[in-house]
Amino acid sequence: MANAKDRVKIKKKRTKIFRKVRNNNSFGTFFAYLFLLVLFSAIFVTIAGFFVEYILESKFYEEYSKLSTVAEIYEGSKSDDNIIQTMMKTSNDFLITDKTGNILHQKGKNTCSFEGNTVYLSDKADKFLIYKDSDSDYLYPGKDGYIKVRWKQIWDLYSKMLFDKIEFTVEGSGDEAGDEADDEPDAASEDTVVAEKKLHEAHGVYVTLNADSDDVNGIRDIDSIKIPLWVSIDAGDGENFVGKMLFSFNIKDVVLVFEIALAIVVVAVVLSILMMISIISGIIKYRRVRNLFYKDFVTDGKNWNWYLINGDKRIHGFYSRNQNWAAVNFVFKNYRNYCLCHSVPEGEEALAKINKVIEGSIDKSEICAHATTSNFALLLRYENEEELRQRLNQLIEELSHIEEEHEFSFQAGVALLPSDSNTINDTDEGRIPRKELFIDDIYNNACSARAVLSDTDESGIQFFDKNLLDDQKWTDIVQERQAAAISGEEFKVYYQPKYNPQDNTLRGAEALIRWQFSEDELVPPGKFIPIFEKNGFITEIDHYMIRHVARDQKMWLDQGYKCVPVSVNVSRAHFIETDLAEQILGMVDEEGCPHNLIEIELTESAFFDDKKAMIETIKKLKSYGFAVSMDDFGAGYSSLNSLKDMPLDVLKLDADFFRGEDAGERGQIVVSEAIRLGKSLNMRIVAEGVEEKEQVEFLASQGCDMIQGYYYAKPMPKSDYVSRMSK
Ligand code: C2E
Ligand code: CA
Ligand code: CA
Repeated sequence: MANAKDRVKIKKKRTKIFRKVRNNNSFGTFFAYLFLLVLFSAIFVTIAGFFVEYILESKFYEEYSKLSTVAEIYEGSKSDDNIIQTMMKTSNDFLITDKTGNILHQKGKNTCSFEGNTVYLSDKADKFLIYKDSDSDYLYPGKDGYIKVRWKQIWDLYSKMLFDKIEFTVEGSGDEAGDEADDEPDAASEDTVVAEKKLHEAHGVYVTLNADSDDVNGIRDIDSIKIPLWVSIDAGDGENFVGKMLFSFNIKDVVLVFEIALAIVVVAVVLSILMMISIISGIIKYRRVRNLFYKDFVTDGKNWNWYLINGDKRIHGFYSRNQNWAAVNFVFKNYRNYCLCHSVPEGEEALAKINKVIEGSIDKSEICAHATTSNFALLLRYENEEELRQRLNQLIEELSHIEEEHEFSFQAGVALLPSDSNTINDTDEGRIPRKELFIDDIYNNACSARAVLSDTDESGIQFFDKNLLDDQKWTDIVQERQAAAISGEEFKVYYQPKYNPQDNTLRGAEALIRWQFSEDELVPPGKFIPIFEKNGFITEIDHYMIRHVARDQKMWLDQGYKCVPVSVNVSRAHFIETDLAEQILGMVDEEGCPHNLIEIELTESAFFDDKKAMIETIKKLKSYGFAVSMDDFGAGYSSLNSLKDMPLDVLKLDADFFRGEDAGERGQIVVSEAIRLGKSLNMRIVAEGVEEKEQVEFLASQGCDMIQGYYYAKPMPKSDYVSRMSK
């Protein structure tokens, strides 16, 4: 028996295997994918954000340096009208305001919103007061000190440029600015470009055209795009120079950026769709495999795997562990026969039908699974033993008639796991705690209980209990020790004398086996002979007894005792062997014992086997000089008929004749007639199990030859028996 640690280990291994089947790693893949998608998107957006910030900043400084130069010039010579005039021609649009906000000078349209924020940019060294343009909403000064982009608006503009024909208006001052710029070759190159090309305006942005275009018919005609923001620069005396910055972008770059972004989005979407398809098909496939793992192909219901995994869940589950559970081994007794008489497919069809009926009779939390050929494993909830018994009886009753021309029989072995029991199975190591119990432990108990019924073919229900477990354990021990017990001479021959009731002289004895199990434990034959009869070891026992009795007789003869015949029991299983007589002869001769000192006892039930072979064996034994007796005459089935055919020497009247109420007057009549019958067939009569003096006297009066019973002597060890023999 595995110890607690091993048991838990085994269980863990099993649940690990089941978990592999149960776990759907498609979901894991899905979440991993989702996580990576989010992670990469975040990284991508952050990098892109830095990149955009960097570009905006460099553009900002470009524009700012131009405007601050203009502002400085203005501050230096405010009264010089020429300077103002030059500014009007060469600079970007601007406003100059006084202390109170009145506009002193203005170039171009005033689209400054005067809604703004202080912007630090990344080095935080300088700060600038930036205003939004009132016509354009693409860039704005953020509250966090950075220039921000409104991507949505940019996207709208971009798609408009792509798909619509946009009406641009040529800026009023742009024309003149262009004309004048030609005369000023020393102006900054960027200024020149801006000035050279006409600015077209729409949707709050300005565009310059390609060299070969003179109107904007589509995005192809645009060379660069300029987005306005206003910056306020101190111009001394409380005056502010508010200049219009144009963040200029080459349209090819913009298109490229959008194309790359679009491509990334498309790839991500396609990947996501592929992933989804693979995940969904994975889930479907997994479901199919899982169903196969738990499917029983004979009944179309659930299989043993299902029972194991769900059974453990039930008995250990948080909610269900406090309920009464019963494991049931439910067997369709007629399966093999039915398959033989019909066909295996028809037998399987019957199993499927049975499975269906059982499934229909249980509730959702209960389990029915097809375990092996004709075995169903059930896990049922119950109120009490009686209720469960009734329920099973009903089920058996219903199932016994599912095939019209047949009446089927079913056997159920039941092992209970009551809610209040935290343990099960008394073992040598103690009780097993419930948390270390597997469902198959309990089911095994149910099977053991069922095995008790296996000798019969009739329907029945057997509950597992402690006695059953003890029986089983005892059987196990006996089988384990049997071989060693023979070689270690643990079996002892006891002799029960048979006396002649007429003169109280010793006339014979019966050899009865005992097992010296330990120094002070002598086990009676009733506790192990039935086990040996079942497992076939009984033939060894019979040989052992014949040899030992023959050896004892020979020894006593040699010591000068007046030996009497000793009868040895030969089991029914042994009698089937055709060379039994030769075997016995061989053994007795080997020990050197005269044949007339050995008698062979056959039990009455043996006479129902192969009659012809039996008569043959009896005849042979007799021809070798052994006496043969019929044991337990009158017990169980009538054997008058066998008496007719069997040439037996001795008739042993069963102890039942002398027990109970029948032992009265009518009993006496039966006994005396049985004696007469035996006598007239030339047999000697032995009465067994005689304990009372009156019985002895009566038997003596009826001419009974010998009495074997406690009245004279109990079975005794050979040392005691020897003292009853005379020399
Ligand atoms: P059995 O062959 O019918 O043996 C007679 C049984 O009746 C013995 O029980 C004996 O002790 C008991 N008995 C005899 N007189 C009285 C009495 O006055 N009152 C009562 N109450 N009982 C009496 P035991 O020794 O326990 O043997 C039981 C059975 O075990 C035997 O029944 C026999 O079937 C089987 N057996 C015993 N030894 C052997 C053996 O060596 N080989 C085989 N094959 N079977 C054996
Ligand atoms: Ca006997
Ligand atoms: Ca007997």
